[in-house]
Amino acid sequence: MKSTPEHAAIGLRADQIDTPAAVIDLDAMERNIQRMAAFARQNQVRWRPHAKMHKSAAIALLLEQAGACGHCVQKTSEAEALAAGGVRDLFISNEVIAPAKLLRVARLAARLAADGGRLAIAVDSPEGIARLAGAMDAAGSDAGIDVLVEIDVGQGRCGVPPGPEAVALARAVAARPRLRFAGLHAYQGGAQHLRATAERRAAIAHAVHAAAGTRALIEAAGLPVPLVTGAGTGTLAHEATSGVYDELQAGSFLFMDADYAANEPDTTQPAFEHALFIKTQVISTHPTHAVCDAGHKSHAIDSGLPLVHGLAPAHALHYANGGDEHGILHAAGPQARLPALGQTLWLIPGHCDPTVNLHDRLLGVRGGLEHGVVERVIGVDARGALT
Ligand code: PLP
Ligand code: MN
Repeated sequence: MKSTPEHAAIGLRADQIDTPAAVIDLDAMERNIQRMAAFARQNQVRWRPHAKMHKSAAIALLLEQAGACGHCVQKTSEAEALAAGGVRDLFISNEVIAPAKLLRVARLAARLAADGGRLAIAVDSPEGIARLAGAMDAAGSDAGIDVLVEIDVGQGRCGVPPGPEAVALARAVAARPRLRFAGLHAYQGGAQHLRATAERRAAIAHAVHAAAGTRALIEAAGLPVPLVTGAGTGTLAHEATSGVYDELQAGSFLFMDADYAANEPDTTQPAFEHALFIKTQVISTHPTHAVCDAGHKSHAIDSGLPLVHGLAPAHALHYANGGDEHGILHAAGPQARLPALGQTLWLIPGHCDPTVNLHDRLLGVRGGLEHGVVERVIGVDARGALT
């Protein structure tokens, strides 16, 4: 903890929280968790939220108490940080190629297995499989590791094309004594923010078709496919009802950023609410605008600028980029008044994952943003965990 000691924040009223600060509305977050848990139960699908979003062992354990089967991570160091915080079932939903990292993966797999847990990882090349197998052999752990073959179901990022190449990789995995072929990783990241519901549905229909065809080919080659995993917050209803995806990886549903709020709503999936806010204070006022103390060192702007929360459309304020430490507020609604010097506002970040990564801690407020109290301080354990 760098500036405010943890204990000092607990018990503060929301209006006493110093700015800028990343604040979780705990009631809203818990409603999101319950909505996701109920949705997964109804659709008889597992959920393995992506921890790239919250990067916090405490939140991961909260999600698992509510029924999540484990967590996805994107990086070896994220896996290590969450494992150190007690998370025991982890899937690195990404390719790892550096031998030094693969040795850490192999050691973590052994540690988790010894503790009754499990590590899984994605691969998309014969070379990647050979390197992983080499690291597992070097670590000498007989617990092994679950390996998912990643297929590219439309994003054009990692993954082999659906079809025969995936069969060859599944065979290559199964041929290695310390690697277990555990299924297909088939995440369609490019579909999540397609604005029109029909476009998202069509993109996932394509992904489902590709995943189903590849699964059938691998099974025809004599290898069982225990799992097809994927899905994000923008499309999860389509994967959940596909009959092909067994597990949902959505992460952003927990906090819901402004970019997701800009999607045309899909009535077939739960309506998640914003639960992560940046509290900011007006530090300078002018006839034409006001300036607040949250710039892009407080929130990520790669997916758009933040929205100002809690104002009726007629009173809306527009946030413009003022640099890394400033936001510039203009009146947007017809009856909007510029905020006064010292007034505080709540911003909804454009993109929650990289926003969380800017903060050492998230302050969890109970009882609403206006009158609530800080109930817990949640460390961002995997902040900056990039390796
Ligand atoms: N799975 C993978 C592999 C991802 O890269 C991501 C996010 O980028 C997710 C799941 C979660 O998606 P979201 O946070 O949009 O729900
Ligand atoms: Mn994201």
